[in-house]
Amino acid sequence: MAKKRQKRDVVIIGAGMAGLTAALYAGRSGLSVLVLESELVGGQIANAADIENYPGIPGVGGGELISAVQTQAEKFGAVVDEFDPIVRVELSSQPKIVETEGAVYEAMAVILATGMKRRKLSLKEADRYEGRGVHYCELCDGQAYAGKTVAVIGGGNAAVDAAEYLSKLASKLYLIQRSELRADKASVERLRSHKNVEILRQTEPRALSGDTKLTAATLFDRKAETAKELPLDAVFVNIGVEPNTAMFADQVKLDKAGNIVAGEDCRTNLDGVFAAGDVRTKEIRQLTTAAADGTVAALEAVKYLREMNK
Ligand SMILES: Cc1cc2nc3c(=O)[nH]c(=O)nc-3n(C[C@H](O)[C@H](O)[C@H](O)COP(=O)(O)OP(=O)(O)OC[C@H]3O[C@@H](n4cnc5c(N)ncnc54)[C@H](O)[C@@H]3O)c2cc1C
Repeated sequence: MAKKRQKRDVVIIGAGMAGLTAALYAGRSGLSVLVLESELVGGQIANAADIENYPGIPGVGGGELISAVQTQAEKFGAVVDEFDPIVRVELSSQPKIVETEGAVYEAMAVILATGMKRRKLSLKEADRYEGRGVHYCELCDGQAYAGKTVAVIGGGNAAVDAAEYLSKLASKLYLIQRSELRADKASVERLRSHKNVEILRQTEPRALSGDTKLTAATLFDRKAETAKELPLDAVFVNIGVEPNTAMFADQVKLDKAGNIVAGEDCRTNLDGVFAAGDVRTKEIRQLTTAAADGTVAALEAVKYLREMNK
């Protein structure tokens, strides 16, 4: 049976903070809006226990926060469709085509808000302690370890930046890197100048331990070929991110790391295609910056459609 063909002003791909905020603004501007989500609504934040840095809300569960944004977007007419995987996108045509397993959508504008995944630590205990000593975002969870002993795992610029940030909070900070640091020299030197920082090169974590929370990591010194247990309150893993861009990698311009190239106006290299949130080339990836991008992308889409209809 042929798939149903449906028209929308805007199709948004991804129902995290960026996509749902875009849906809220586009719906409130009177556009017909469909949000397609391949998994559960909410994105990275869906299962986070406690968000402490969303302005105006001192403490809130990630699921609660994101479902409030969904409700707000739906109130303005946006339709959120979960679990209907996209099988094809055509982004340079007008209208643009987004085909799912169940339908073919024609959209005048598309907002890409597919976010990213942080590369996980490949130790079998890492999942067990996630959120209880194993963390992937220092800006999100670092504050809980003020005055404690923490480690950052990784050796790129992002890891050194994370270590710099955490060194101001922690009583002792280790930067653990399995080979040599790849971060720029000036940043490494600045980090090294802090008295509470120790850099362990040629060292890799082999095991994590603790009862309900992480309390130690077993580190293997690759040069000396010895292992030792290091008491730690937390490890912050910073070994790279994977933007969710495979589906449109051959159509939209990406940077070297695979993020969609788009400036502050969220416009991509393709007319009528916008990128919002963690999937866009940017420095700071937080809920507030995702919400800001969702706002800008939606309002830019409104402007684009208005200009097209002149
Ligand atoms: C554990 C954790 C805790 C965090 N805590 C905080 C915090 O306390 N404060 C803070 O500000 N930030 C926090 N962050 C960061 C914050 O969650 C992100 O910056 C923010 O969620 C990014 O939103 P986004 O909408 O851009 O992307 P995402 O949240 O990644 O959402 C993208 C959505 O797109 C969907 N998607 C991907 N590919 C497709 C596809 N092909 N088709 C359809 N849908 C697709 C995904 O399933 C996902 O739902 C945390 C992150 C993590 C992982």
